[in-house]
Amino acid sequence: MSDERDALVQAARELVAWEEEIGGIGFPAVAVPARAPSADPLRQPVHDEPPPPAPEPLPKPAAGAAAAPQDRAKRLRVLQEEAAGCTRCRLAAGRTRSVFARGNPETDLVFVGEGPGYHEDQQGLPFVGNAGALLDRMVKAMGYPRDGVYICNVVKCRPPENRTPKPDEAGACKPFLSGQLEAVRPKVIVALGRCAAENLGQVDPGGRGWRGRWGEYEGVPVMSTYHPAFLLRSPQFKRQVWDDLKDVLRKLDKPVP
Ligand code: SF4
Repeated sequence: MSDERDALVQAARELVAWEEEIGGIGFPAVAVPARAPSADPLRQPVHDEPPPPAPEPLPKPAAGAAAAPQDRAKRLRVLQEEAAGCTRCRLAAGRTRSVFARGNPETDLVFVGEGPGYHEDQQGLPFVGNAGALLDRMVKAMGYPRDGVYICNVVKCRPPENRTPKPDEAGACKPFLSGQLEAVRPKVIVALGRCAAENLGQVDPGGRGWRGRWGEYEGVPVMSTYHPAFLLRSPQFKRQVWDDLKDVLRKLDKPVP
């Protein structure tokens, strides 16, 4: 009982902190149960390198294999091990380690970002820098514990100087992302930033007005919104992102703060 009360108090605190951050005030209508890069020593850019040969296909799961937790964990483990030694694209040359995912694969909500940055490359976990801390605050304000969602990226290795992944790099890495989404099979995917939205088929290259719209990836609803790193530079857009995330909660039939 005391644990439950503590969780509710903590959830309320997280929400108030987030509301203060975006300039509003509020409490959940129903309490939700707990459920900068520094100097970069990395290599020279590889813009002019020729693209690598077409990658070998990744091992496929058995047809119809979905979702017993042990199958899911096994599938993700195989993919993670494959990504750890992967050389399918030029990004392998500059990584410290590949960055597969963090969080809970037994979740209804997946966030997909762009690619690892300096801190992620060092630690081997996605969203652990300042942008990750902001994402964690948003996740907690939604009523989830920090590791109650699953978080991954379009590419698993850090692009030089944090540039946007090139199409051939994202394409080479796509089987990992597809495999993750296929294994976790969430109820909703949130695409963080235009790169993620594009690579989940949510926006035509060159298209405008992609944020805040519902789409679909392999039958799973996708909400595209701004990347937390963009919000660090442009905090005036936090309110729009929070509106998008409240829409996600509605789609999940969860209480909306
Ligand atoms: S970014 Fe993806 S495809 Fe490229 S080397 Fe890393 S794991 Fe392989």
